[in-house]
Amino acid sequence: MARSWGYAEHNGPSHWHTLFPVADGDYQSPIDIRTKEATYYDATLKPLTIHYEPSSAQKLHNNGQSFNVEFDDSQDKSVLTGGPLPGVYRLRQMHIHWGSADGHGSEHTVDGRTHSAELHLVHWNAKYGSFDEALKNKDGVGVIALFLEVGEANPGLQKVIDALGLIPNKGKEIHFTNYDPSILLPNSLDYWTYQGSLTTPPLLESIIWILLRAPITVSAEQMAKLRALYFNTEKETPCHMMNNYRPPQPLKGRKVRASFQ
Ligand SMILES: [Zn+2]
Repeated sequence: MARSWGYAEHNGPSHWHTLFPVADGDYQSPIDIRTKEATYYDATLKPLTIHYEPSSAQKLHNNGQSFNVEFDDSQDKSVLTGGPLPGVYRLRQMHIHWGSADGHGSEHTVDGRTHSAELHLVHWNAKYGSFDEALKNKDGVGVIALFLEVGEANPGLQKVIDALGLIPNKGKEIHFTNYDPSILLPNSLDYWTYQGSLTTPPLLESIIWILLRAPITVSAEQMAKLRALYFNTEKETPCHMMNNYRPPQPLKGRKVRASFQ
């Protein structure tokens, strides 16, 4: 095993269990949502309530696995409540997973079907006081996942895309604010939900996943800008950032609940 995890052949998802044994655990993510089996409508699920403040966006950061838009989570500024969540969850960061070509790149799949990319909005349960504390609990983190398919350009994503040129390499970050990611949401907030894990090491099993059924679109040009980023630092051999997704993991008896019939 190489000195660190990544998405290359020598340190990719099939190797992660050697450094992070929970990779073989019972609540791992992503999964394939099998809509005809292991999924049921739950009438008790509430609608999602999303309130984000554009001023809570702080930074855009290339962390060598994806880019993060980071938000101020020191107070209840940008919050998610409702849905399957038991409390108030603060928005911490947003990032995307994508493929090397259109048609693959999402982490979750639906009846075996992949999308070109998957966007994650990561929130943590404010009752735990910090993100690190929240990660130790199975209701600690709530992630909204959006599927991206190639089509019309997404105007809501363009501000982020335009700034990516300033953070091409691992470790680069810039100030980035006045951004409300709720402009990305599709008209329908119908969702699937299940208990799972981070899809990157340390793969902690502390995530209530909320997967929106309706995909959003990005243009081929916008996808190309994602693939123009680099995994490596400025001093290392150039390697374009792509295929930064983990494949579906065993369901191990879990059931997926749907908010819709
Ligand atoms: Zn993610």
